[in-house]
Amino acid sequence: MTESQYTPPLPGRASTQCFCCHSTDLEREWAATSPFFAQRALCRHPQAIMLIKCLGCGTRYFDFSPTKDELDRLYAGYRRSEYFVQRNSFEPWYTRAVNDDLGAEVQMQMRRAVLRDALEEHGITKHFENILDHGGDKGQMLRELRAKTKAVYDISGVPPEEGVIALDQTQIKEIPWDLILSCHVLEHLPDPQSYLEELVALGRPGTIYFFEVPDESFRSFGLSASSLQKRWIGWLAKRIFAFKVFDFLSTACRVKLRVLPPLGFVALREHLSFFSTLGMSRLFQENQLKILSVKIRASGHICAVAMKAAAN
Ligand SMILES: [Zn+2]
Repeated sequence: MTESQYTPPLPGRASTQCFCCHSTDLEREWAATSPFFAQRALCRHPQAIMLIKCLGCGTRYFDFSPTKDELDRLYAGYRRSEYFVQRNSFEPWYTRAVNDDLGAEVQMQMRRAVLRDALEEHGITKHFENILDHGGDKGQMLRELRAKTKAVYDISGVPPEEGVIALDQTQIKEIPWDLILSCHVLEHLPDPQSYLEELVALGRPGTIYFFEVPDESFRSFGLSASSLQKRWIGWLAKRIFAFKVFDFLSTACRVKLRVLPPLGFVALREHLSFFSTLGMSRLFQENQLKILSVKIRASGHICAVAMKAAAN
């Protein structure tokens, strides 16, 4: 490909071109900012926003990018008492048990088993020198991996597990990493492309990457792209009780049945993108990563194993 043929990707999650596969074949449906997100991050009432579906790769993403200040407000004291009270007041189904992630260890065991199996599948069974979980909370995903240095980078500042060290943004650039994990981070970011560039810059040729994001695919029925849907969401946005009821029904159908019914809508709470396996593959190929596998694994999450390629 010559330089004149190459079209550089648009920054962030552009509304005219898929940020994963660059397709311009996009479908739009009306969605909404949730009352919780709208009040906490945007300091305003809910509003109708567009959710884009790429027909090229199947990835969906909101045509809406919060600013850094808005994201800082959203994640300040994440899941602590004040966050829980505010969210629970708008979303009664967001209970204390959900907030505290009760049963999280059962889920973590499953995710660690998936990580182990995914690495073994590609013959990656060695004793690592240095491994990093980028955005990895306390480093729980590292527990069963064998490595001389186990490190975590997380903006929450939560103390790491025993045997794991917490590093800052400067320190993580000083260590040659064999394995870098990024689990449940990409879907929260307004600009996944820039994040990936930074993550890939931390590795060297041969560094292994493991990514994990939720599989939130669904089929949408009905009036989702019509002006009626926009008016419906606008009407609901002024009636918080009715909004709560329809938000609950829409979310239950989408999560449990993988279907968004007529008059249902997707509410933006935390996730800005809903990745497909194909979208993930295309995004990584853009970023100097050789894909070893991308698939939905036993945990129900989309997991990708990739290796940093040598620079051209
Ligand atoms: Zn796409």
